[in-house]
Amino acid sequence: MTTEQTFVIVGAGLAGAKAAQSLREEGFAGRITLVGAEDERPYERPPLSKGYLLGKEEKAKVYVHDESWYDENSVELLLGRRATGLDRAARQVELDGGPRLGYDKLLLVTGASPRRLDVPGADLDGVHYLRGFEDSERLREAIRGGGRVVVVGAGWIGMETAAAAREYGCEVTVVEPQQMPLLAALGPELGAFFADVHRQKGVDVRLGRGVTAFRGITGRVRAVLTDDGGEIPADVVIVGVGVRPDTELAERAGLAVENGIVVDASLRTDDPGVYAAGDVANAFNPLYGTRIRVEHWANALNGGLAAGRAMLGREVVYDRPPYFFTDQYDVGMEFSGWFAPGGYDSVTVRGDLEARAFHAFWLSGGRVVAGMHVNRWDEGIAPVQELIRAGVRVEPDRLADPSVPITDLAKS
Ligand SMILES: Cc1cc2nc3c(=O)[nH]c(=O)nc-3n(C[C@H](O)[C@H](O)[C@H](O)COP(=O)(O)OP(=O)(O)OC[C@H]3O[C@@H](n4cnc5c(N)ncnc54)[C@H](O)[C@@H]3O)c2cc1C
Repeated sequence: MTTEQTFVIVGAGLAGAKAAQSLREEGFAGRITLVGAEDERPYERPPLSKGYLLGKEEKAKVYVHDESWYDENSVELLLGRRATGLDRAARQVELDGGPRLGYDKLLLVTGASPRRLDVPGADLDGVHYLRGFEDSERLREAIRGGGRVVVVGAGWIGMETAAAAREYGCEVTVVEPQQMPLLAALGPELGAFFADVHRQKGVDVRLGRGVTAFRGITGRVRAVLTDDGGEIPADVVIVGVGVRPDTELAERAGLAVENGIVVDASLRTDDPGVYAAGDVANAFNPLYGTRIRVEHWANALNGGLAAGRAMLGREVVYDRPPYFFTDQYDVGMEFSGWFAPGGYDSVTVRGDLEARAFHAFWLSGGRVVAGMHVNRWDEGIAPVQELIRAGVRVEPDRLADPSVPITDLAKS
């Protein structure tokens, strides 16, 4: 590798910052340019719906690296700049209103953006989406004094912001068209657990109904209308109906895109000089034998690190089981694994759902495909991941028995 090489990273989020870090850690001595559309240097998003939204976590703690890290590691940060085009033949990235950047290798880590709700009144003041620092700060201002909050969508963002709004003393209603919160991620059994957690905290969780419109007075939202004829008064609306991967750049450049930028297990696109990772990548995962697009923090972190190594020509097989964590009220949870919606036969619980301290395992054909623990930190998530990787059949009785260490199950 000569010092003349230039690696460009488009997207200054967690995956982009971690890729730059891994390039330097692996000894890359060439030029690294990290281009980001936001004005902020890379930061972590999970606190934006938890500690930062609640005013408990300082902004300085949310950044991936200190400001000085970029200079110290000769990583050129181009912030507030959007990549608008990609000329793969010339190996150049076009920036808005600026010169083209030549590259030897390119990493696309453009992440994802919240899906917008296309209903009458969607543009009224008081309707919030949550992705960046400013969104979180605006939302904090809107809910910190209490009031009536309607959360649209009972996914992770919806449930976490509902919890934050309750902690600020708001009256909170969650509206979700599916029959259970978090249905695609957890299935109905554990979705019901989270519905109960919120109901016990006084949230009005309304399932099986969709939002048809927002009604406003003088440009401000005042009510949410639902398809069962309901009208829910609202001072603030939080819309959390999922994200869409930011694939425009890749699409226009003719890269394979299908629910994200298509990459192989070494995070390489169909152009050998171009890689993708994080929320935007639909990566082949050899552990599951299929492509998975993961919208989680750990995937941006580990995928970014792996992409850096892959760009340097190292042998990379990115085959981690997806991992996710959440904090809602006094419920701390870690989940790892993957199944297609409905792609499991049964769920086994070890511990006490009522006491909110338990493990849950999703099984398919007698094998554990995913597991989570709630407020049980003694064993951590690593043995669960080992169990998934082992792919062994487990006895449901032993799985449910807290006296059997999870590490022993992987040996069965
Ligand atoms: C509020 C919130 C809470 C979350 N909580 C959790 C959690 O508890 N647990 C968990 O596992 N995950 C959580 N996540 C998900 C996690 O934060 C994401 O998976 C992670 O941020 C993805 O990182 P990324 O680098 O792939 O993309 P992003 O973080 O989206 O970063 C991509 C960056 O690229 C920039 N960009 C896009 N297009 C261009 C372009 N053309 N030119 C230049 N720059 C561009 C974007 O502006 C953005 O800054 C949460 C997400 C949010 C929003």
